[in-house]
Amino acid sequence: MKLKVHTQILIAIALAVAVGVVLGERVAPIKIVGDIFIRLLKAIIIPLILASMVAGIVSLGDVRKLGRIGLKTLLYYMATTTLAVVVGLVVVNLMEPGAGVDIGTETGSEAASGEVPSIASIIEDIVPANLFDAMAKDKVLSIIFFALLLGVAISSIAEKGKPLVAFFEAFNAVMMKITGWIMHLAPFGVFALMAHTIGTMGLSVWKPLALYMATVALGLVIHAFITLPILLHTFAKYSPVKFIRDVFTAVATAFSTASSAATLPITMDCLQENTGVSNKVTSFVLPLGATVNMDGTALYEAVSAIFIAQAYGIDLHLGQQLIVMITATLASIGAAAIPGAGLITMVIVLKAVNLPLEGIGMILAVERLLDMLRTAVNVWGDACGAAVVARLEGEKLNYKPTSG
Ligand code: ASP
Repeated sequence: MKLKVHTQILIAIALAVAVGVVLGERVAPIKIVGDIFIRLLKAIIIPLILASMVAGIVSLGDVRKLGRIGLKTLLYYMATTTLAVVVGLVVVNLMEPGAGVDIGTETGSEAASGEVPSIASIIEDIVPANLFDAMAKDKVLSIIFFALLLGVAISSIAEKGKPLVAFFEAFNAVMMKITGWIMHLAPFGVFALMAHTIGTMGLSVWKPLALYMATVALGLVIHAFITLPILLHTFAKYSPVKFIRDVFTAVATAFSTASSAATLPITMDCLQENTGVSNKVTSFVLPLGATVNMDGTALYEAVSAIFIAQAYGIDLHLGQQLIVMITATLASIGAAAIPGAGLITMVIVLKAVNLPLEGIGMILAVERLLDMLRTAVNVWGDACGAAVVARLEGEKLNYKPTSG
């Protein structure tokens, strides 16, 4: 009997936990398997986005549809990210994980060393000065912008553009084929990454931060299991239980890689193959979502900022919490879809309400695990978004039981 991919991955996770616990640090060499899995995914992200977006746009027929899809996507993304932050703020204010925390002696200098993107630089990055430079640096927003331009231009020259339409459609089909192959490796990749994480993380550092982790996790659980399923059920008319099964490979890959970008090819494949959302929608909604829609990251940043304030005995009044809400949303948009990015853009939130940046040092010890959790929620949010937008666009989604 052939097991479904999501069953294989569940087994891989369980095995990874066991192997990680038993072997501890000795599990380190296994990382190479996970690294190769991530490298394969990364290798196809840029060509996949370019090909699938151009193919998606030319298949729209009417370019005005693109504006409509874009508007719905942005509305959905803004609304869900805001909801996530609100949940985070409520939970952290109720649980007060920072009250009574002994401010550690660790300093935050290491964490604060990453480059914090400014809003201006994010906007500037959208327009590539050099396409190949943008591709080489994995600048997804630049690629999206260029693909939009290319797709609309090809559509607008009608007959003459036909060879390019055929080219990009074929290119897209080939990229999806490669993604399908890589997905067969997902159970091995997830196993290696998880076993490595579990084997090499010191459990002892967690204790003082247990309540903080529980707070972030609770917020993420509420958002992922209550808020998003309600939206999915109401707007996409899709059973959340079936949907999680359909996109489980993507969510598990996000969890183990802690990178929405690396997961993108798998997210696209799951939605197109299992849920029936068209390439028209996935090709636009998902790359954009992987880059700017990070519900989990926004929630994490809001909770962490308040946690740090609590730990330092700083009372944030309602107006300041509102600033946290807005900046956490912006900082999540600015965060790159790679591991640890949310921790760096959190500086934006802390600065906005004058919280000590050293506070970041406190939470470094548990960063990786929370990164995995929030990335899983980020990708889950993107997937739900694609289904919602597809349904609002009148697409018939797939309700047949899936075969893998
Ligand atoms: N790792 C996250 C992602 O790729 C971003 C973050 O660090 O919050 O979605």
